[in-house]
Amino acid sequence: MPHDVTTPTPPFRSADDRFEVHQIPAMQDNLVWLIVCRATGAAAVVDGPSAKELTPYLEARGIALRAILNTHTHGDHVGINHDLARQGRLEGLDVFGPAQKAAQVPGLTLGVGEGDTVRVGALEGRVWLTEGHMDGHVSFVFGDVIFCGDTMFGAGCGFLFDGPPAKMHASLERIAQLDPATKVCCAHEYTLDNLRFAWSVEPDNPALEARIRASRAIRARGESTVPSTIATERESNPFLRHHSPTVRATVAAAFDDRVLETPLDVFAATRALKDRKDYRAISDAELPG
Ligand SMILES: [Zn+2]
Repeated sequence: MPHDVTTPTPPFRSADDRFEVHQIPAMQDNLVWLIVCRATGAAAVVDGPSAKELTPYLEARGIALRAILNTHTHGDHVGINHDLARQGRLEGLDVFGPAQKAAQVPGLTLGVGEGDTVRVGALEGRVWLTEGHMDGHVSFVFGDVIFCGDTMFGAGCGFLFDGPPAKMHASLERIAQLDPATKVCCAHEYTLDNLRFAWSVEPDNPALEARIRASRAIRARGESTVPSTIATERESNPFLRHHSPTVRATVAAAFDDRVLETPLDVFAATRALKDRKDYRAISDAELPG
């Protein structure tokens, strides 16, 4: 099956000019990220279902892979480790992944968790424990870019496999406190589906309406909506909109048995409502744009 993204986001530089970020679409909707240190040329890949797309990308550009950063251990994130191991190319790489799931990260050289740092050439990334999708899930913060795996998505958040809602809520709220210009490099191109749900819970949000129009045009061209920014997520990601009276009213109407007092209550109900998938009945014609 071809990838949803046929024209990836072009490589971009961090605000401090110290590294480049490359987006490599893989499988159907995975987004593999490559961080390249400009001072040393050292490169690290963040997650990936396989090495199939990465290897020719590196070879074509003469980029030397030095490290793998794994956010969590689902198959479409550590598949790349398995692949490189089979090819005998994992040896010698730094592999940084969740300490809590060390046994499930092939080639792991350093298990990481909250407060740790990882090195890629001359770069140093901060590690945050961002659970909710899966226990042990970590995010990597380099300068003005966060690689957050399956925690925050464009206009959405990861499925709560391990949960509980309180952990995902805390992870999202923490990420949302990053500088508004921070780029959000998540691991999947799920934005349009997420926006359809967002529209179902907050149709009176003009920022959301504008984002839907823009994202539909981007995707119609086969381009990627990722990365977004923290500013964009704060104004239109339904899982950060618990203060919106419209979101509160919509989820309250959907669940008459739920107490909706705290931001966490509203987040949990919003996540549960998305899981019901009622919003998928909304046709394109009903969406802005
Ligand atoms: Zn996952």
